[in-house]
Amino acid sequence: MWRRVALKAALLFGGLICVFAALTLGLNVWGERGVQAERAADAARVYAMRTAETAMRVGAMDHDAVRAVVEETARQDQILFVKLVDRDGEVIAERGLFDSRWTRPDEQLVRESIRRGAVGVSSRGGAGHVSYPVIVDGRVVGTVRVTASMDGAGAAIAAVMRRSAIATLLGLGLILPLSGLYLLRAMRPVRQMVEAAQAAARGRLDSRIDLHTGDELEDLAQGFNAMVDRLKGSLEHVHQLAYADHLTGLPNKTAFLEHSRSAMRAGGREGAMFLIDLDRFKRLNDTFGAKQGDRLIRLTAQRIQAACARHVQALEAADKASAESPDPESPDGDASYTTVLARVTADEFALIVAGPAGFSAELIAAEIVSAIEQPMEILGQHVVITCSVGIACFPLHGGEPDILLRNANLALDEVKKAGGASYRVFDESLTRAAMERVTLEHELRRAIERDEFVVHYQPKVSARTGALEGVEALVRWRHPDGTLRAPGSFIAVAEESGLIAEMGDFVLREACRAAARWREQGLDIPVSVNVSALQFERQDFRRKVQEALAEAGLKPAWLELEITESTAMTDPERAIAQIEPLRALGVRFAIDDFGTGHSSLSHLTRMPFDTFKIDQSFIRELGEDPNARVIVQTILALARSLRLEVVAEGAETAEQVAMLQTLGCNIIQGFYFARPMAEAALLDYAKTAPRQDGERPTATIVSPFGTAVG
Ligand code: C2E
Ligand code: MG
Ligand code: MG
Repeated sequence: MWRRVALKAALLFGGLICVFAALTLGLNVWGERGVQAERAADAARVYAMRTAETAMRVGAMDHDAVRAVVEETARQDQILFVKLVDRDGEVIAERGLFDSRWTRPDEQLVRESIRRGAVGVSSRGGAGHVSYPVIVDGRVVGTVRVTASMDGAGAAIAAVMRRSAIATLLGLGLILPLSGLYLLRAMRPVRQMVEAAQAAARGRLDSRIDLHTGDELEDLAQGFNAMVDRLKGSLEHVHQLAYADHLTGLPNKTAFLEHSRSAMRAGGREGAMFLIDLDRFKRLNDTFGAKQGDRLIRLTAQRIQAACARHVQALEAADKASAESPDPESPDGDASYTTVLARVTADEFALIVAGPAGFSAELIAAEIVSAIEQPMEILGQHVVITCSVGIACFPLHGGEPDILLRNANLALDEVKKAGGASYRVFDESLTRAAMERVTLEHELRRAIERDEFVVHYQPKVSARTGALEGVEALVRWRHPDGTLRAPGSFIAVAEESGLIAEMGDFVLREACRAAARWREQGLDIPVSVNVSALQFERQDFRRKVQEALAEAGLKPAWLELEITESTAMTDPERAIAQIEPLRALGVRFAIDDFGTGHSSLSHLTRMPFDTFKIDQSFIRELGEDPNARVIVQTILALARSLRLEVVAEGAETAEQVAMLQTLGCNIIQGFYFARPMAEAALLDYAKTAPRQDGERPTATIVSPFGTAVG
């Protein structure tokens, strides 16, 4: 490209030189012609003067002596033409060849010379012309007209042209290469700049222009360098924003997937991807504030990194030791490990460890779990936080990072479901379960749209009298395949997908309406409704309950809401804030599945509940496990001291009922008395159940909730 530019410039210069040379040549030729014309005119003048003087001396034009001079003049080589003209313009004598080109100038020259009595000179048509007046006795009697050729003018002009041509060629030969060279030199900085700009355009931002020309080019180069530096800085910043987590400085999910891909591509490698999630982080974050939450995240990142580095160092040391005493059967290969830790969501980290075959992903996970479990100090308190780890190995569980991440996530979900603080390696059954979950979720959505849910009611019975104390509303799914499905088969998915809220609202409204209907028939049966964690945490929880009561026209005192122990204890303060206003209206609250959560006694005493429902696992074990008996006894004692009502769930045998009675538990909900049933069956049951005084009712059963004190 640069040669082309130089060539064009040389051609331009060459062209200019040629034009200049042509102009000079023209001027020279023109000058030379002038000189030659003057010479011819001078010669003509000399001969004309000699002839005129001869005529003036003899005193006449028409004289032999004059004719003799004319003859002699005409013989001269340079003289083309000579004639004598009298004052009237008549030609007296004439010699030589007269060219027709001269006719007009000739007449004019002759006329003027006679009229003015002066010498007329002109050079035209390649010749010099003179008309010399002949003056006798002070009077012009005629004129001698002589024309001399420009002999030698052609040769002189040819010489001039030759000289010019040589000078032009010399000039071209010298100037063209020199100008080309100069141009290439002069273009070098520009070339450097163009190359740097092209490199920058290709993304190579390390290219710089090093110019010290001391002129505008140097300024331009410095400007370019500054611009590229700024661009590089901006790009680094953008990269940082796009690929790094600002809190920990670790790569983010996008960067993690890229790093993982290259770690996995490094040939013949094995490894594992870990998804590490902090258990109950949200609660800690809410308790201690976002700033401490951030600190906790950073600390966690450091701990994971340290644990992983420790483990990998130990592995490398072991690999080195075995390399020094090589096992002939162990394959040679890249013995280094690649680890990448990233923060992928608020409290979730992803880690990939790739290296030589044979290391244990579970050991690494165990180390991470135990590193995180070490107490952390937050605002002067020692806090123990646990984590759950899902593991997917490659190439066994997937060849692409996103698949591994998904599988690690499935494994993580299982750890979470089992209570967290542990790890689990993915296996194919998890994929199947996940697929089934997705299908079920889809079916549940459709079930809500098509009103496939119905409510059944299970009686709560007085152990002493067999009287109906109330009912618990339990949802059932009338599946399109004709089966009636119990919540165990779908409630978990409904909770995970959030569908539980809509379903729960339906049960709440339906149960309130049913209780109101029963009252219209004279059956005052209090109804209990299960409230999921999602419903309970919602801002509009209170409004929804009030709406259901108002819509059914049911008094709040005939509604009890059951909240599981774990839901109530996740955030006791919030639970109290949710419960208090409704309780003030008269709605009762029961703590469900009591004994399975981790209630702290201090919280329990402050909780505004009316009823404890002892979890059925303790009742089931009553006959066999002495501990179960102790637990039931303790719960009953606790309830008594807190002046709460107790309902024992899941009593199936007469033996269990008898034991519960012995222990002082009066209200029992269990298959022994009645299973959950449809509304019509319940009405039959209620009408035939004994009254509180132990007798069969004749018409109305009035059974408010026991003796509890609110
Ligand atoms: P839960 O609230 O503890 O309900 C009591 C469960 O124990 C019911 O199971 C009931 O059928 C069962 N049960 C009662 N007596 C016995 C017994 O003697 N033996 C045995 N083996 N089981 C007994 P169900 O109806 O399958 O409901 C299971 C759980 O599903 C409920 O436990 C509750 O947590 C949840 N659930 C049911 N309906 C709803 C609802 O409408 N909303 C919400 N959020 N959860 C619901
Ligand atoms: Mg319940
Ligand atoms: Mg229960």
